[in-house]
Amino acid sequence: TYKNIINTIEITREFIYMHIKEGKVVLDCTVGNGNDTILLAKLVGDKGKVYGFDIQRKAIEITKQRLIDEELLDRVVLIEDGHENIDSYIEEKLDFVIYNLGYLPKGDKNIKTKPSTTLVSIGKSLDLLKENGLLLITCYVGHEGGMEEKNSVEEFLSKLNQKEFNVLKYDFINQINNPPVLYGVEKSKLRRD
Ligand code: SAM
Repeated sequence: TYKNIINTIEITREFIYMHIKEGKVVLDCTVGNGNDTILLAKLVGDKGKVYGFDIQRKAIEITKQRLIDEELLDRVVLIEDGHENIDSYIEEKLDFVIYNLGYLPKGDKNIKTKPSTTLVSIGKSLDLLKENGLLLITCYVGHEGGMEEKNSVEEFLSKLNQKEFNVLKYDFINQINNPPVLYGVEKSKLRRD
């Protein structure tokens, strides 16, 4: 059925389709089962590049196999390390960065993103982002620690200088079942005023 207001997952997809064109260089900071990594790999095409990070070997292996099956591995660099270390692996500027915080669906719920490393990583991603580049963060708030992580992400983003960044929050404010919250950050063209 047609809906005027689409949910957080759907709006994230809309941003991805609008923003990711062939040849773009993008980063998935939480690869998990690879759903975003695979979509991004399709959209950037064979001239583009996708970096993907996850601390779990299982996530990297599942995603690698899916990419092989879809003949997309040629444009993807999968790294088994924490996204707080992205600057040790990436030197080029990025068009787009995505985070899906929390734990691996169908995996170990104790292995999840943490506020301290998430904020370090977001700071580094913002440095690596090109002018007009876009960063999306989906926060799940239903699991233990999820609300605290969302709050620390929001506090961090709300302090970004508005001359340098446009920051958006997409949230359903009358739902009782803890829907995920999306944050979007666009790096502005640097002005010299
Ligand atoms: N987008 C993914 C998908 O399509 O399946 C789901 C991602 S899942 C919600 C979050 C992932 O973040 C988990 O796979 C977890 O292992 C990973 N993770 C946790 N801490 C991390 C860290 N410091 N650096 C990178 N990945 C991390």
